[in-house]
Amino acid sequence: MSDLTDRERKRYTRNLILEEIGEAGQLKLKAGKVLVVGTGGLGSPALYYLAAAGVGTLGVMDNDCVDLSNLQRQIIHSMEDLGKPKTVSACEKLAKLNCEINIVPVQERLTPENVGRIMDGYDVVVDATDNFPTRFVLNEACVKAGKPFVHGGILGFVGQAMTVVPGRGPCWQCVFHEPPPSGTVPAAPGVLGAVAGTIGTIQAAEVVKLLLGTGKLLVGRLLIYDALEALFREVQVKRDPRCPVCSGILI
Ligand SMILES: [Zn+2]
Repeated sequence: MSDLTDRERKRYTRNLILEEIGEAGQLKLKAGKVLVVGTGGLGSPALYYLAAAGVGTLGVMDNDCVDLSNLQRQIIHSMEDLGKPKTVSACEKLAKLNCEINIVPVQERLTPENVGRIMDGYDVVVDATDNFPTRFVLNEACVKAGKPFVHGGILGFVGQAMTVVPGRGPCWQCVFHEPPPSGTVPAAPGVLGAVAGTIGTIQAAEVVKLLLGTGKLLVGRLLIYDALEALFREVQVKRDPRCPVCSGILI
């Protein structure tokens, strides 16, 4: 593994002085390859902090274009980006923030057919999507590939995060079982931008810990943030022995 350049040492000074990171940890981040699925409310802060931290390769996946109604929470995009593909807008911002990393645009809609090809080569996948069907596809593909998967979800003033490490705890489907009946979740629900910011940032911290191999992950722990009550709570979640996705995997 190559050393850090002088410019990288300067840029990551505040990482390098952390005992948990140091030069060895920074090199792990530099070698890290992370796919972020979605560049919206969750993807915006997650991508910004992962890029800033020096994660060496970031896959930036989205298939939508920037709309004025996105800017209330999707802070990686700006007025000048209206109508632009979100991958283009997000990659431009990340390149401005950190020119030392590889930023890979993936302008596709995730399907059961393309998920394996798209996530191939990445170490960690971030669920920054806004819909249940995509999460089921991502979770199953990650479990089958043995890839860690960091889930985030937001609705109204509430957000949640959980990390799935295949073979070490429950997968997302163990906890959420099946998509809610159609019509019960509005297609474009209200959400406070700051809640997306909080959860996306927690997801970035989970990814950094995964790449470093340090700290206690949100494995088997669903962390819930209620902004109205200004409370965090944690729900212990267990593996479902009948889970159709992960029940065949040994712990
Ligand atoms: Zn499962």
